[in-house]
Amino acid sequence: MTILTIDKSSWNEGLDRARSAYTLVGPALDGEVLGFRELADGEYPNMDGRQTRLSPKSIVFPPSQTMMTCSLTEGDAKQNIYEAVAIDTKPRAVAGIRPNDAKALSLVRLNFDTDEYKDPYVVEAYEACTWIGLAISAPSATDFSTSCGTGPFDESCLDVMLVEDGERYLAKVLTDKGSAWAAAAGFDAKAEDSAEALIAEKKETAEKAITSSIAFNRIQEKTVLDLYEADHWKKTTFACLNCGTCTYACPTCWCFDIQDEVHGEKGYRLRNWDSCMTSLFTRHGSGHNPRETPLQRTRQRFMHKLKYFSDKYNRGIMCVGCGRCIDQCPAGIDIRTVCDTMNSQA
Ligand code: SF4
Ligand code: SF4
Repeated sequence: MTILTIDKSSWNEGLDRARSAYTLVGPALDGEVLGFRELADGEYPNMDGRQTRLSPKSIVFPPSQTMMTCSLTEGDAKQNIYEAVAIDTKPRAVAGIRPNDAKALSLVRLNFDTDEYKDPYVVEAYEACTWIGLAISAPSATDFSTSCGTGPFDESCLDVMLVEDGERYLAKVLTDKGSAWAAAAGFDAKAEDSAEALIAEKKETAEKAITSSIAFNRIQEKTVLDLYEADHWKKTTFACLNCGTCTYACPTCWCFDIQDEVHGEKGYRLRNWDSCMTSLFTRHGSGHNPRETPLQRTRQRFMHKLKYFSDKYNRGIMCVGCGRCIDQCPAGIDIRTVCDTMNSQA
């Protein structure tokens, strides 16, 4: 691991140098909305550390993705035969991602990269990325990341971690991918020996600024049926409108639906984000719906994040404590409260 010092005045210049080998992706304002997207020449990532409204999961798992196409032309030798769309594997430098969002994308990958099945669309998009994170020095009031196995300075899923220090960034180069990007950007000035201690100090300050936490130790000890049949669900889920905002905003939610569409003489197989909070998501062709009621759907969301996921993967919970679902829920439903209820009442 090396720590570099990067003068902020040379940051954009370095990003431009690296563009010859990497597509640049980062947070950018579109109107008033901050979100992740590819940045064109002359555009640079917003590095003020604010949380984007939607998470960066679209980088590896786009809201709508054409996976296959086929010809529908009468007489075409390949008529009605779906063929995979080529996957763009050009390296992407994702600059300005928050450490817990990077952790979230590694959890999303788990679902698409199992021993039984590897989804090339997600896995190859993930592998093409070099994650250049920005440590969070001023966590928000709804940030509870440190109790979810991550935090404002979590290096575990980054290739480079940038730490604000006045007019410069201290850049911890954590992996070979990170070294390759730093070399392409021409960032090579080593920081002073005391830089590591300075980063540790900033980390401690940022973590102490997080005042919110959750506990899920008892949830993991309980059986699924204990939790599923607990008395609190009616009250816990009463206010939910099943609007799906929480799931679309969440960096770890991965529900999707596959659709076939026809446009002219071409067929398209698309994968679109979906949400466990909507009734249509689980409605069968027969009309039967195993999650007919709002209570069943809301319970599913919390059981998946806080119980099923940890039982299946043994990697903690499916939540990185970013706080987006709390900030954006129109009904004021707070996963911290639900988690505490599940932990204490089950
Ligand atoms: S918990 Fe809130 S954001 Fe999520 S579906 Fe219910 S009302 Fe919408
Ligand atoms: S706080 Fe909410 S939005 Fe953020 S990771 Fe957890 S469940 Fe998802």
